Amino acid sequence: MISNGIPKQERHPCFFAKSKKKYGRVHLPVAPSCNIACAYCRRDYDCANENRPGVTREVLSPRGALERFQHVLERMPNICVAGIAGPGDAFCHPESTLTTFELIRKHFPDISFCVSSNGLNINPYIRDLHDLGVRFVTITVNAVDPGIGSLLVRQAVLDGKRYTGKAASSLLIAQQISAIEGLKSLGFTVKVNTVIVPGVNEDHCLFVAKQMASLGVDLMNLLPLIPLAKTEFAHVDPPSRRQIKKLRDSAGRYLPQMHHCQRCRSDAAGCL
Ligand code: SF4
Ligand code: SF4
Repeated sequence: MISNGIPKQERHPCFFAKSKKKYGRVHLPVAPSCNIACAYCRRDYDCANENRPGVTREVLSPRGALERFQHVLERMPNICVAGIAGPGDAFCHPESTLTTFELIRKHFPDISFCVSSNGLNINPYIRDLHDLGVRFVTITVNAVDPGIGSLLVRQAVLDGKRYTGKAASSLLIAQQISAIEGLKSLGFTVKVNTVIVPGVNEDHCLFVAKQMASLGVDLMNLLPLIPLAKTEFAHVDPPSRRQIKKLRDSAGRYLPQMHHCQRCRSDAAGCL
């Protein structure tokens, strides 16, 4: 691993813009399924909360992920971060996520780990993540109001029980808030992704920013909706660059904003 003036804990190209040209990350697609149904998601594609929608990836086993990681590191020695960001949710079947981190940690004690999730089911695994040396977590929070949230998430399944409508969105929000509290209490660096859906949550995202700031979240990534065919928002015009900039400027009063997200694929590798 190369070294220079940037401290090790800041060598994450997404969380620290100064690292984006020097250090790379690799996404390991080990999470096949999802425990919620976002209204803008096509389940045959990668999770749209973190990845560029419209791309389908093969899913790797934890052992396959280790092999891929070793292979990528040989070609790109500036890789500093191994992350799991789909193609579904990392905690729908947490065993794959945790086993992948465990295997890589055995071989690469110095590598940083990050994980993205919708936050529904990360709570029971926060201590495990910490013990495995995961330090960066992204949670997608599109709403902090169950009424608005219910327009964005259609169902949630937790502990074998299925929730729909406002019950699903209330549950998701409560789980996300308690997850963020738990993560911050153990010293994780936490980013929140918020997908902006015009006519649904574009005005609400400032409330999201304010509440996330009060929970100690470190960074916010406002992402424009990418309308996918055959979804509820297929005909919604995505927010323009200007709108996104304006929203980031306003939300920036509460939380630092990410401006360089590339919406990578769930198997992306290299510098951003
Ligand atoms: Fe799709 Fe939402 Fe699940 Fe991501 S969290 S895979 S966008 S339903
Ligand atoms: Fe970083 Fe955004 Fe790519 Fe995730 S999708 S690895 S946050 S640039």
